[in-house]
Amino acid sequence: MKLDAKIPKGPVSQKWTNYKAHQNLVNPANKLKLDVIVVGTGLAGAAAAASFGEMGFNVLNFCIQDSPRRAHSIAAQGGINAAKNYTNDGDSIYRLYYDTIKGGDYRAREANVYRLAEVANDIIDQCVAQGVPFARDYGGLLDNRSFGGAQVSRTFYARGQTGQQLLLGAYSALSRQVEKGKVKMFTRREMLDVVVVNGKARGIIARNLITGEIEKHAAHAVVIATGGYGNVFFLSTNAMSCNGSAAWQCYKRGAAFGNPCYVQIHPTCIPVSGDYQSKLTLMSESLRNDGRIWVPKKKEDAEAIRTGKLKAPQIKEEDRDYFLERRYPAFGNLVPRDVASRAAKERCDAGYGVGETGLAVYLDFAASIQRLGKDVIEERYGNLFQMYEKIVDENPYNTPMMIYPAIHYSMGGIWVDYELQTTIPGLFAAGEANFSDHGANRLGASALMQGLADGYFVLPYTIQNYLSAEIRTPRISTDLPEFEEAKKAVEDRITKLINIGGKHSVDYFQKKLGHIMWEKVGMGRTKEGLKQAIEEIKAVRKEFWKDVRVTGKTYELNPELEKALRCADHLELGELMARDALMREESCGGHFREEHQTGDGEALRHDDKFMFVSCWEYTGEDKEPVMHKEALDYEEIVVAQRNYK
Ligand SMILES: Cc1cc2nc3c(=O)[nH]c(=O)nc-3n(C[C@H](O)[C@H](O)[C@H](O)COP(=O)(O)OP(=O)(O)OC[C@H]3O[C@@H](n4cnc5c(N)ncnc54)[C@H](O)[C@@H]3O)c2cc1C
Repeated sequence: MKLDAKIPKGPVSQKWTNYKAHQNLVNPANKLKLDVIVVGTGLAGAAAAASFGEMGFNVLNFCIQDSPRRAHSIAAQGGINAAKNYTNDGDSIYRLYYDTIKGGDYRAREANVYRLAEVANDIIDQCVAQGVPFARDYGGLLDNRSFGGAQVSRTFYARGQTGQQLLLGAYSALSRQVEKGKVKMFTRREMLDVVVVNGKARGIIARNLITGEIEKHAAHAVVIATGGYGNVFFLSTNAMSCNGSAAWQCYKRGAAFGNPCYVQIHPTCIPVSGDYQSKLTLMSESLRNDGRIWVPKKKEDAEAIRTGKLKAPQIKEEDRDYFLERRYPAFGNLVPRDVASRAAKERCDAGYGVGETGLAVYLDFAASIQRLGKDVIEERYGNLFQMYEKIVDENPYNTPMMIYPAIHYSMGGIWVDYELQTTIPGLFAAGEANFSDHGANRLGASALMQGLADGYFVLPYTIQNYLSAEIRTPRISTDLPEFEEAKKAVEDRITKLINIGGKHSVDYFQKKLGHIMWEKVGMGRTKEGLKQAIEEIKAVRKEFWKDVRVTGKTYELNPELEKALRCADHLELGELMARDALMREESCGGHFREEHQTGDGEALRHDDKFMFVSCWEYTGEDKEPVMHKEALDYEEIVVAQRNYK
């Protein structure tokens, strides 16, 4: 496998400008002859499909849901970053780029991150033009709030529903192209393989989720925008249909998988309450603007709270430990997610946790309500408070919320070069599905920024550079033997799963895998634990293929079969995540190896050995994958120990 990041020459601030000045273009008449498949209709996929349609390409756009509008991006609550500096608090493109690199613990590719910061401002303009109802201040200007890892307010938001509003914007752009006949929508389709012909991605195999029919679709290029793989852990803040399957299929066809062990654990989620749960709920990071995080200072108070003898409001001010403000005075409650999550775990592990399980800390709005009034808090976070009350049955205006870290986002993903092209020519990856911009930890409100940057502003340029060499390639036929071979392999896999007829449901195995992942590949990882995890995952995988029971039939609506196919992939992806974590003998961002920490419990990087992206190559079933390295060079930024104190 050959890795070439294709980073343009020149100073980091000029790279994208230079790229755009020299890339190859496709003329309007030739665009009409070229087809592009976009898998996914979240912010990344919908933005890309709409843009390609507008440019004149013929687009085939796929999603699992019954409408593009139901992509998981709809769940995003808190906001989207851009360095507009409307609040005049000292923001700049450089600072957004710097904060993102530092937030990612110096494990992201510098050139990509600078480009992201650069195009972020265009995203806001684009979305405003689409009519996205961003919050505005009294004078009518766009409002901003703060998110973790930054000392400026650069987060644009639409109450607690930013993702939904942005997705409606992207969906309207997409619908316009559907109406014009430039985008053909394929809803309720699940991609089950990517088809490679003569070394180039030329199509996909998809299952029609209503009829069960296996379909072949061809194009000159394929874009994967299928979101993240947090659901490998079973319990996460991701929607139930989020999965790592499409990325995994690309990996098995030859695309490198970048940094699989980098997953984000979000500090402000509603704690786990029992075995019956299949999902966790995020309380947006925006709440940390006005909420203060604390636990009791005294163990006996924490114990009394756990057993119901004391309630939070009864703990006196001087007996509360605002541990983030104490440990990180410069950033306080707005430290990045990895730092906040670990600090909460540390307090709970030390015996200061609250809630029945002791695995929770408080997020308290009393001081803000007193300072600003209940109306202001309600206006800012009303829907989140309502959601919390519905789930927990406690009123957060009167009692502090209880929160605990949970799996939320995957920084790792399909490896892409500067053009967002994978190691398979013609196969591109965008949004959360790629590994690109967040290094070992993503800052809040940067995923929406990245997805829309990739879809609206990066791929429309870079895919042309690729397609300019395809103008003489006739329309790809699905009759090619490679399509038949891939289709048959998918059908055989489905038949095998249906025929097992074992004792246990798919969820039984996914939960087992999730348990191993959370315990051994979660917030604190050790060499011993990771080695055990690899063996345990292998054993669960073996058991799965012997004893899973997939009810229903192949050619009908069959959610159990959908889950089984994803679970089978997760059982392989989970192992790669553990391998990657075992290889990375350092702590950085969300990857915390307990053996590698500073005296005061912070992540300890080893830049001399691990300043690289790990890029894994598939070598065959039950064979050890091979790791390649993309070295990371920082030209503009001085690499340092992260400090939020
Ligand atoms: C609760 C929550 C709140 C969040 N809040 C914020 C926030 O405030 N700010 C922020 O920046 N980020 C936030 N994030 C992260 C952000 O929402 C996601 O990273 C981002 O929306 C992902 O967008 P995407 O387009 O890459 O993928 P998604 O929106 O996940 O879309 C994936 C698409 O791919 C399709 N798909 C998947 N697999 C297949 C397949 N095999 N075949 C066919 N189609 C497939 C799906 O149907 C869907 O259309 C939040 C995440 C969560 C979970």
